[in-house]
Amino acid sequence: MKHISILGSTGSIGTQTLDVVRTNCDICVEALAAGRNIGLLLEQIKEFQPKLVCVFDADKAKELEEITKKEQLHVEITSGMEGLLACATISSAQMVVTAFVGMIGIRPTIEAIKAGKHIALANKETLVTAGHIIMPLAKKMGVSILPVDSEHSAIFQSLQGNAGNKYNRILLTASGGPFRGKTKEELKKVHVEDALKHPNWSMGRKITIDSSTLVNKGLEVIEAKWLFDAEASQIEVVVHPQSIIHSMIEYEDGAVIAQLGTPDMKLPIQYALYYPERKGPTSPRLDFTKLRALEFYEPDTEVFPALSMAYEALHTGGTMPTVYNAANEWSVAAFLDRKIGYTEIVENIRKEMEAHKVIANPSLEDILETEAKVYQRLNR
Ligand code: NDP
Repeated sequence: MKHISILGSTGSIGTQTLDVVRTNCDICVEALAAGRNIGLLLEQIKEFQPKLVCVFDADKAKELEEITKKEQLHVEITSGMEGLLACATISSAQMVVTAFVGMIGIRPTIEAIKAGKHIALANKETLVTAGHIIMPLAKKMGVSILPVDSEHSAIFQSLQGNAGNKYNRILLTASGGPFRGKTKEELKKVHVEDALKHPNWSMGRKITIDSSTLVNKGLEVIEAKWLFDAEASQIEVVVHPQSIIHSMIEYEDGAVIAQLGTPDMKLPIQYALYYPERKGPTSPRLDFTKLRALEFYEPDTEVFPALSMAYEALHTGGTMPTVYNAANEWSVAAFLDRKIGYTEIVENIRKEMEAHKVIANPSLEDILETEAKVYQRLNR
């Protein structure tokens, strides 16, 4: 039996991870962590009986503790960063699923690796900002970083059985989001509700907005660099509106290996949890007779400059990917709160990148300080 801890259990990836656990009945959930959603956490405690739970918000944690005591549930409730770290390092878990949204995941991921846990990584913001710390640390500790992001899982799957063979290109597919084909002028009129409608995937609010601006694809390019030790020039984004091919690897001889499937996050989650074993289907199987067309386009970086800006951040390196990510996190939250307009998200990232003095090879403290500075500037 596998023993896991899930960081971000109440979110889109977290709940789908628990769906996979529920279906397979051979994984024991040792710890759960989330931000504030104690209603869903209570249900998860009753069903999966973890030993330890963290609610980041201290008041909500207290509330949940009172309820669990009243209901005589045997679980320890913690809060704050200390609680997140306790869930990340709980001795009984072999694997940690990192499904937090945003840079809050950096410290728990690092501590989990130091404690020797394998990581099923969904929380891409962590790798984007601290990949140069995380990947060497994982190597040193002998732990695996298994991608959960569907594109990176597809790349990982396409690399299987090819150890020793060099690849030429990573072809990272992108749906293009809900605004593919729109003009810059049309993007200025986008409302929160429009941006929250993704054509193919049902996901958390932040990543849905990121997908519409192509920031998500930018973050994925940087994530791919760290996961697969790739040069920026080897990572190419291809718009594929049907989201059937989840990404591809082109080898030196020109052969292209791809992973295809219906758009469903449970497959990459399950693959990461059980790697290298494959389990039963997580969604209806692909019916090729019903597929009418698989289309491919170049991304429109004129209308969606966030993708080119991610390559710039990757080339510059150091703290620049942190600035790209932090300015985006702040701006997406502000857009969802209806405090800024849609196109200001990418404008803010540009402004912050232009104003930033890069720190090469940043420490964890440099990264967190850079994030705080970006927030301070944008809050003004
Ligand atoms: P959601 O917004 O749905 O869930 C985020 C989770 O993080 C929730 O459990 C939330 O708790 C928790 N959380 C947020 N802030 C804190 C905090 N300060 N302390 C502790 N917990 C916190 O996000 P997604 O599941 O969509 O995305 C998670 C990650 O996975 C992101 O990095 C995303 O880019 C990546 N990803 C997501 C995909 C998807 O299909 N959703 C696909 C590929 C990658 P609470 O509910 O209590 O607020």
